[in-house]
Amino acid sequence: MKENVIILRYGELYLKGNNRSFFENTLLKNIRHSLKDFTFELKKISGRYVISNYNEEDYNLIIEKLTKVFGLVSVSPAYEFPTNIEDIENKCKELAADLSGTFRITTKRADKKFPIKSDNFSAMMGEVILKANPNLKVDLHNPDTSIIIEIRENGQTYILSKIIHAHGGMPVGTAGKGLLMLSGGIDSPVAGYMMAKRGLTLCAIHFHSFPYTSLQAKEKVLKLKEILEGYTGKIKLFVVPFTKIQEAIHVNCFEEYMITIMRRIMLRIAERVAKKYSCGTIITGESLGQVASQTLESITVTNSVIKELPVFRPLIGMDKTEIMKISNDIGTYETSILPYEDCCTVFLPKNPVIKPTIKKAIHEEEKFNLDYLIDDAINNIEIIE
Ligand code: ATP
Ligand code: MG
Repeated sequence: MKENVIILRYGELYLKGNNRSFFENTLLKNIRHSLKDFTFELKKISGRYVISNYNEEDYNLIIEKLTKVFGLVSVSPAYEFPTNIEDIENKCKELAADLSGTFRITTKRADKKFPIKSDNFSAMMGEVILKANPNLKVDLHNPDTSIIIEIRENGQTYILSKIIHAHGGMPVGTAGKGLLMLSGGIDSPVAGYMMAKRGLTLCAIHFHSFPYTSLQAKEKVLKLKEILEGYTGKIKLFVVPFTKIQEAIHVNCFEEYMITIMRRIMLRIAERVAKKYSCGTIITGESLGQVASQTLESITVTNSVIKELPVFRPLIGMDKTEIMKISNDIGTYETSILPYEDCCTVFLPKNPVIKPTIKKAIHEEEKFNLDYLIDDAINNIEIIE
C-alpha cells in the first residue's frame, strides 16, 4: 500500500500576526518553485498544506526538495480519504500487514461530528490492527511505529506513520535581501544558509584573483552556490576581478597589514554592490578569533570601512566543529574542502597582524590609488545568474 498525499507542516509563521498572509503566500510560492519540475496539486487545510496527484516515481525527489524549503517544519506521507469508519478500519488492516514490532495509535479528532472519542477510537483501531497481524504488540510509550489518525473538519481522514523533519526557519523572501561574501571555504556557505533560513533572499559576491587562483576555484564557488540554491532559490552571483588589487597591496603595503587591507577593500566593494542591487545587509562567515583577521581588533578595523549597512556574521560565536557539522548536514562540506586556492591564501603574509589599528590601516591605504582600483574592479564585475 502506498500513501497518496504528502502533508506539510509549517511553524514559526503563526508568530507573525498581521503579516501572516504575506508569510504564507511567500511560503506557498517557494514550495511551488521548489517543485517546479514535477506535476502535483497543492491545497490548504487548516494550518497545513497537502500535496497530491504527484507521480509516485517522483516521491523521493519531492520529499528531498520540500525538506529544504525554509518555513516548513516537517512533512509526512499520508493516506487521505473521505472520513468513514469502515474505510479507516480497512486502511488499518492494510497497514497492519506492513508493520512489525510494536505500535501505538493516536487519534486526533478535529471533526467533532465524528461520533467516537479519540481515545476510544484509537483503542478500537488498535484491536483491528492486532487482529489483522497477531505478531504485533502495543507499546504506548516507546513504539517502533507511531500511527496517527487525523479526522479533519474538511471531511477527510489522514493516516500517517512517518514524520520527516525539514529545516524550519522563515520563508526565503520575507526578511529582505542580503549580499553573501562567498569564498570557497567551509564557513561562508554555512553563513548564507543560516541567514536565508531567517528569511533573507541571497545574492553572493566572490573575489577572484585569476590567474593566481585557478578557474577550478571559481567552479567550486559556482558549485557551492548551486548547493545553496536548493534551499534559497536562485542566487545572483557577482564575481569581482581582484588580481590588480591584490598585486597593488602586495607591492605597496607593509606585509603584516596585507590581509587587513585586502579585507577592507573587499568590504568596501561589497557595500557598493549591495547598495546598487538593493541588498540591505552584507553577510560574512567570520567567527571570532578563528584566524588573525577575525580578532575583535581586526573585525573593528575592517568593519570601520562600512558606511551604512549592517554586516551579519551568523557564525561569530560558533566553534569550527559546530560550523563543520552544519556544513555536512546541508551538503556543502565535500565541495568546500576541495583543495583549490582561495584568493586570500595567495599573497599570505607570514605573520599577519593580530591587533591592527585603523590609523595604520589608513596609512597603508594611502600608498596606492585605491579608489581607482575599486572603481575598475566594480566596472568589470561578471554577473552570473
Ligand atoms: P571561509 O571558510 O568562508 O572561506 P575563512 O575561515 O577562510 O572563511 P577568511 O578567509 O578570513 O575566513 O574570510 C572570512 C570571510 O570573508 C569569509 O567567511 C567570507 O565571508 C569572506 N571572504 C573571504 N574570502 C572571500 C572571497 N574570495 N570572496 C568573497 N568573500 C570572501
Ligand atoms: Mg576563506
